[in-house]
Amino acid sequence: MSEKKHPLPAGVGVVVVAAGSGQRLGQGIPKARVLCGGRTLLQRSLDAVIASGVATHVVVVLPQDDAVLAAVVSDAARRTGGPAIVAVTGGTTRTASVRAGLDALPPPTAVVLVHDAARALTPPDVFRRVAEAVAAGAPAVIPVLPVVDTVKVVDGDVVTATPDRGGLRAVQTPQGFDAAALRAAHAAGGPADPAVTDDAMLMEAHGATVRVVEGDPLAFKITTPLDLVVAEAVLARDPAASRIAG
Ligand code: C5P
Repeated sequence: MSEKKHPLPAGVGVVVVAAGSGQRLGQGIPKARVLCGGRTLLQRSLDAVIASGVATHVVVVLPQDDAVLAAVVSDAARRTGGPAIVAVTGGTTRTASVRAGLDALPPPTAVVLVHDAARALTPPDVFRRVAEAVAAGAPAVIPVLPVVDTVKVVDGDVVTATPDRGGLRAVQTPQGFDAAALRAAHAAGGPADPAVTDDAMLMEAHGATVRVVEGDPLAFKITTPLDLVVAEAVLARDPAASRIAG
């Protein structure tokens, strides 16, 4: 993996998607509102985006009429001396939410990073690695980790294949893109398909080469109650993660 430093372009937009329902967390509120170490997942994600220093514009994509999360965004916008931060309403799929975010970025934006608010402990370094790789010329860049489990392909309850684990990677966010290429891939993608689980998939379908950089275990997606327990434990025990995430 090549991670040579490269100067960032003037316009780097970050779309933080936070419009999911969070049903799998089982708290009955949108996931971005869930508290972790006394702060919402959205606050922690925005802290990391701002601390990374890569963003010139941040668009936060929220569930419709969510006054609590809208207040989180305006508070972050008021406190930061850095990027402009605005909120827009998302859609019924992640892809639709990303599209809403892209539409709200100013046209001169050269590089876009798309980040899941649910990856609330992502270290700022990951944002920088991804943004620098796009600035170095890659049209699409994703942070990845090796897969530690053996993975099976199944048909119903029958295993049909065992891919070589050495060639598999688990994918995280932020994912970084040449902004024009990502807009074109979304425009070509048609109506939002729930099977499209990340933007790199759209870029692959559009024929773009997607490059990988090193991810970080702390960029895990907080999805289940167990993930939240892990995140709380990290914040309680790891001074570096606490410092990053407030
Ligand atoms: O549902 P999933 O875990 O894939 O969601 C990943 C991220 O996408 C979360 O941060 C979630 O808030 C966001 N999302 C969204 N709009 C949707 C569905 C998910 O912004 N309709």
